[in-house]
This record gives sequence, C-alpha cells and structure tokens, in this order.
Amino acid sequence: MTASGTSDPIRAPEALRKKLARIGLHREADLLVHLPLRYEDETRITPVAQAPWGEPVQVEVVVSSREVQFRPRRQMVVRALDDSGELTMRFFSAYPTQQAALSEGSRVRAFGEVRGGFFGAEMVHPRFHKVAEGEPLPTELTPIYPSTAGVANSTLQKLIGKALAEGDLSDTIPDELRQHLKLPGLARSLHFLHRPPPGTDLATLHARHHPAWQRVKFDEVLAQQLCLRRAYLARREKGAPVLVARDDLGARLLDRLSFGLTGAQLRAMAEIGGDLAQPYPMQRLLQGDVGAGKTIVAALAACQAISAGWQAAFMAPTEILAGQHYLKLRDWLEPLGVRVAWLSGSLKSKARREQLAATADDAQLVVGTHALIQEGVDFARLGLAIVDEQHRFGVAQRLALRKKGSNPHQLMMSATPIPRTLAMSYYADLDVTVLDELPPGRTPVKTRLVADSRRDDVVGFVKKHVEEGRQAYWVCPLIEESEALQLQTAQETWEALSAELPGLTVGLVHGRLKADEKQAVMAAFAAGEIDVLVATTVIEVGVDVPNASLMVIEHAERFGLAQLHQLRGRVGRGQYESSCVLIYAGPLGEVARQRLKIIYENSDGFEIARQDLQIRGPGEFVGSRQSGVPLLRYADLEMDADLVEMARGVAEEMLTGHPELAERHLQRWLGSREELLKS
Ligand code: ADP
Ligand code: MG
Repeated sequence: MTASGTSDPIRAPEALRKKLARIGLHREADLLVHLPLRYEDETRITPVAQAPWGEPVQVEVVVSSREVQFRPRRQMVVRALDDSGELTMRFFSAYPTQQAALSEGSRVRAFGEVRGGFFGAEMVHPRFHKVAEGEPLPTELTPIYPSTAGVANSTLQKLIGKALAEGDLSDTIPDELRQHLKLPGLARSLHFLHRPPPGTDLATLHARHHPAWQRVKFDEVLAQQLCLRRAYLARREKGAPVLVARDDLGARLLDRLSFGLTGAQLRAMAEIGGDLAQPYPMQRLLQGDVGAGKTIVAALAACQAISAGWQAAFMAPTEILAGQHYLKLRDWLEPLGVRVAWLSGSLKSKARREQLAATADDAQLVVGTHALIQEGVDFARLGLAIVDEQHRFGVAQRLALRKKGSNPHQLMMSATPIPRTLAMSYYADLDVTVLDELPPGRTPVKTRLVADSRRDDVVGFVKKHVEEGRQAYWVCPLIEESEALQLQTAQETWEALSAELPGLTVGLVHGRLKADEKQAVMAAFAAGEIDVLVATTVIEVGVDVPNASLMVIEHAERFGLAQLHQLRGRVGRGQYESSCVLIYAGPLGEVARQRLKIIYENSDGFEIARQDLQIRGPGEFVGSRQSGVPLLRYADLEMDADLVEMARGVAEEMLTGHPELAERHLQRWLGSREELLKS
C-alpha cells in the first residue's frame, strides 16, 4: 500500500548509496525530509582585508602557492590573494580532488572564519569550491546538511535539490484539518527549509521556531503517534485468555489484609480487572510513586487469573526484591490454598528442578527474577505476566516473558515517574493506570542536607533513632567506575559504623553477596535483628521494611535524582516520622547543587522527574530504545510538548477518517524505521 514513488531507492552510484545509508538515507523520499542543520550565507563575497575576525564569511581568492608542511603537524598550506590582501588556508587532511582544486592559479570561493595567524589572515579548513572568474553568486542561503565521512555537503545539496524538484511533496494532512491546526503546507515548508530565500532571519530559523519547522516537527511527532497507536490497535486483533474470576479468591485476600485499599488502588483494580476479562491481551502500565502500594494491586490481578484457571508470573529485577515479593505473596496467598513457586538464578539444582516442574504443572503463581525467562522454563498455562520495576528490564526481556504463554495479559509496574509528555510518547501503545494516592497514615519524609564535615552529628542522630526503637539504612557512596572500589567502600563504611555505634547491630548488604546471603541479611533486617543496615544501591528498588524510618545517603551528590527519590522512598512506609539525611561533599558543582535542591524541595516523584528532565533531557528516563523516541530527529519532547498533545488527537482522527493518508504519512516519515517499534 505504498504511495507511488515513496519507496524508490536513491538514484546515485552504489558507493555513494552505501555511504548515504549510514545516515539513514535509503529512499528518494528520505532525502526530502533530511533537513539542514544550519545555513551559511554565500550570497556575498567579503574582501579578505575587510573580513571581521571570528565571523563566518565568504571570500574569493586566487591561489598563489601550495605546500605541505610537516611541523608542528602535517598540513597543507595554501596562500591565496584577492584585490585587498593575502589569505592563508590550512588543511590537516585533504582528498586528492581537493588538493588538485587548490593548485596554483586556481580561483576558489572559501567559506569559513578568518582569524589572525602568523602570516596575517588565516582560515583553517574552510569549505571551498573552484569557480570561474565572474561566476554568479548563489541567490539563496546555503543549507548545511548532517552528513557522514566522504559525502560532501554539495553532493547532498544536489541530490536533495533534485528530489525536491521531482519527488512527491503532496500533503498528508487534509487541508481543513491543517488549517484548523494553523500549520503551513508541507511542500511550502520543505521548500522553505531546504532553500530559505535571501533575507530570511537566520536566528529564528536556527532556533527552529519558524512555522515551517513547526510543521516538520508536527509531522514527525504525528508519525510517531500514528505508529504507536497502530501497534495499540493491532494488539486488539490478537486473542488472549479471558480471565474471569470463578471464585472469591480476590475477596478472601482482601479480607486477610490488615488495611483497606485506597481509592486509587480500587480504581486500578477495577481497570485491570476489566482488561483481564477482555479477549485481547492487556498491556497496562501501573504507575505509582514509591510506596503507593502497587504490589497488592498486582496480587489481586494474579488472583483473578488464578481463579479463572490460569497461571500468573511475577518478575522482579533483583534477587532481593523478587525474594521479598515471594515471601509476601506466599504469606498472603498460600493460606488461601494458592500454590506459589519460586525461580531464581541461585537455586540449587534439585530445588530448581522441583520449581521448574511445578511451573510446568500445577503452580498457580510463579515469582522470580530473570530466571523466569530463561530457556527451559515452561509454564503450563500462563495467563498473566507481571513485571515489577519494568524500566529495569529491556524490551527483549519483557517480550521473552510474554512468549512464555500465548498472548498472556501483561501488567507492568514502575515507580520511576515519567513526565506526561514522555509518557505520551513512550507509552502511547500502552494503557496507563496511575496510583495517585498514597496509603493513609504515611508521614512525609523530612529531608535534610548535611555537609560531610558534620558526619559525626549524623552518626549521633542514627544512634538516637535506634534508641527510640527504629531502624536505619546507611547507603554507601556510589562509585560507578569500579565495582571493586564500591565493595571496599561498603566494607569500610560498615567497619567504621560498627566501631562508631557500639552496642548496635550493624549489617551489610551489597551486590557481591550470594543471593541466599543477601536474603538472610534482608530477612534479619525486616525482623528487627539488625539496627543499621549498611547497603549499596542494591536496596534501591522496592524493598519494604516499615520499621526503618531513617535513610542516610553518603555522597548524595553522586546519585541521580530518580535514584535518590527511590532510596528515600524506602522510608516513610510505617506510621513513624521518617527522615532522609543526604550527606554531601563540597564544593558542589552547579548541576549537583540544583539536583540536591530539587530533591530537598520536592517529595512528589512526578515533579522531581519533570525538573530532572529539564536538567538532563529524556534519554535517561527510559531505556532509549524502548519506544518511539529514537524516531524523533527534529522535535524535542519537552520543548514541543504542545505538538505531541496535538498530534495525539490528530493520529486518532487520521486512523479512523483517513487511513490511506495515515499510511502515506508513515511511509514518508518512518519508512523502514517503523520496524524499530515492532516490539
Ligand atoms: P510500591 O508501590 O512502592 O511497590 P508496596 O506495594 O511495596 O509499594 O507498598 C508499600 C507498603 O504499603 C507495603 O508495606 C504495603 O503492604 C503497604 N500498603 C499497600 N497498600 C496499602 C493501603 N491501602 N493501606 C495501608 N498500607 C498499604
Ligand atoms: Mg514495589
């Protein structure tokens, strides 16, 4: 269903085509939307003697000499003259054709910044081309395209010029809709961006505020939204097990809880319950700040699957977290007669065989780590796959879990809050439920910033805290460069605190411990046998010990904001007043200062994420490959949030009202790259 011409390969020699493919240019149509990075003004010639230093200008000179020098490094030095004076041009590498063009007597136009050198005016590596005397100047600004080694800007200019003249520029947004959106036509916009007329204000063009840029960026986010929306609709065509509860397992679990659900949890339960009863696979993200109570919602979803006669799988990213879920879910569900299995990488072979056998047979809930998705793990009838802390898994891993059943429903959970604009782009093919309410009785966590010169005070604070019957975490500095050093620091911190806190039990947990050792330490901490737990970031996600109400983080300035927020979320889980002490080492850089200020001033994860996004950009929020973001070249999710919002509605409208235009739009903007999203 391709519009004629859109998939024509670029008409160029094979060698050039290969190079162009490196920058994503495969089809003639790709050339049309390969837009300039910036523009240079070659419509004028500046005499060498009048060239202002440090500003890009074009000069026209005749080469008077050319030599190769070897000191201080190998370079080609070309001296040339115009009527006003002499110019030296230096090239540190040059293709043979370039060298030839610069032989004595050649007349060239060179574009670059003039600087003062030993011999007077100099240009280093100017862009240049040979001209005949009196050759007319271009009347348009010169577009500078993103390129790759061995492809000259002038080559791209020629190819794109031809594509503009001959290619299909027809609009894919219906006129009426376009006028309503107040966007210029596509053909006009592309012509303008590739060939801005002289006199165009370069500052607005470079800042990409011009309506033509708006149009291009809109088209791009529209393609993204169309693509995600289509994947969403395609999912509805697949058949999935209809999970309708056949007994009151869920209700009996609720009866056993010592608390009632929050309104947000009830709403989430209703939404998820509704999805599970549909004949197509659910793909829902349950988002909720740390401590919002996602686990019980997932457990209730599992109950619905189990009661419908299917299995549920519950996968978590670390041994500690998965182990904790296992213990909790077993506590909740075994008394109700549910068979719960456990799979982790550290199981001994006999235990592993037993758990595998149960998984393939009559286990109703299987909890585990990545071990769940390994080969050789077979589920009897997997109906629901739950992934906790989903952002810690790659697309392939989540897919692998899904493949353990035949189109099972999928529930993903995440506490990493994602700002709305990002959510719209990353998760447009998902349904999202937000737990926007914390369980009652939580006391907000008091955050304090303390310079490391006052570390002794903090130790005293910990001591007082434990004397009041509470427990504390002490998180060691993050040392990303070296795991060995990280380990050593943890060990040293543990030794120091053990000495500084005589009479208290200080425990240590880090990534190098064996799984069962980790498990044992965590269990002792949960049971109150350890007063102070020294930890590396292995405790970052999901760990839940309500009596621990103090979190100390050393070298807080080395942590990311999401990480600090997660860590701080480990406390404030019980009814006790909780605090988080961030110890920092000065002097702080500007970004570090800003980040600590954000975490100090805010407790709402979404707000923290929003401000974080402003300092970091979107890439780090979600593994960059997992969504439509790699498809964006021109639009910026944060800056162009309004366009994303607009495109979302238009995508719906086009898919229902103008499917053939939607198809052409996707062909134009994504072409072969759409495959990226099919996961
Ligand atoms: P998260 O959303 O971070 O995964 P958890 O599911 O670990 O949060 O829940 C945090 C703590 O709150 C747990 O101890 C859990 O049992 C408790 N909890 C969950 N829901 C409620 C509720 N409605 N009322 C009181 N406590 C709750
Ligand atoms: Mg959790």
